[in-house]
Amino acid sequence: FLEGRTALVTGSTSGIGLAIARALAAHGARVAVNGLGSPEQIEAAVRSVREAGAPDARHFGADLRDADAIEAMMADIADWSPLDVLVNNAGIQHAAPIADMPVAKWNDILAINLTSAFHTMRLALPGMAARGFGRVVNIASVHGLVASKEKAPYVASKFGIVGLSKVTALEYAASGSRDSGGVTVNCICPGWVETPLIEPQIEARRNGGSREDGVKSLLSEKQPSLRMSLPEDIGAMAVWLCRREAHNVTGTALPIDGGWTAQ
Ligand code: NAD
Repeated sequence: FLEGRTALVTGSTSGIGLAIARALAAHGARVAVNGLGSPEQIEAAVRSVREAGAPDARHFGADLRDADAIEAMMADIADWSPLDVLVNNAGIQHAAPIADMPVAKWNDILAINLTSAFHTMRLALPGMAARGFGRVVNIASVHGLVASKEKAPYVASKFGIVGLSKVTALEYAASGSRDSGGVTVNCICPGWVETPLIEPQIEARRNGGSREDGVKSLLSEKQPSLRMSLPEDIGAMAVWLCRREAHNVTGTALPIDGGWTAQ
């Protein structure tokens, strides 16, 4: 159902972003891949998205800490094809108590996890509204809904993107129609997902034991299902939000967290 549509997934050279890009591709979307990595990793990601079914896939290499680079990327993508689906997924983490948090980490986390989405949305939403269809899916976190210690910039960025998404959802709520699908803005709020991002946190919890022990320790603290999500599980929700039938699902923050925020 995404044939003829174009999607940008930020941070799609790895983890959840790559799984979302592949899931959109499997439904026929053309995909703009973004993210850092070695030339081999980037090439592998683009190939993987093509193999998943994208009629076209290209890498757009903006470093999302740089507003000018984001503007240039959005202009390049608009020249390539009008953007119908925007997934703001790129994100980084650094865990430390606030008193020990490096200022540079605060700046980078806010820039990548929050400010980059402000830029991509302000540049993409007017075109979506003009065409009567648009989907913005922002990958927040349970940490956009509840806090954990030692994650000051991450939690601030994720609460920020949940709020930003609600504002833009309201501003574009009346765009388009039930038939065209409208313009919606939503957040997905995952708990623990098996990706490279959480490996340092698993490592910190091993206490001399195995990786499995580290995983068990993380899950038993906050995620009652005691199961991590797979990146593909998040991809499936992103795809559903892009369906026409989801035209009235806007301004939401949907947890995929094994019961974390039910407690
Ligand atoms: P990951 O480390 O596997 O992927 C992160 C992606 O962001 C990579 O493609 C990377 O190149 C890109 N990126 C990082 N810095 C960038 C920059 N300056 N410019 C452009 N791209 C940049 O991580 P992931 O776990 O797949 O995380 C994806 C998103 O999901 C993040 O926003 C993260 O906060 C969120 N999330 C992850 C989990 C989890 O448990 N893994 C849970 C909740 C939310």
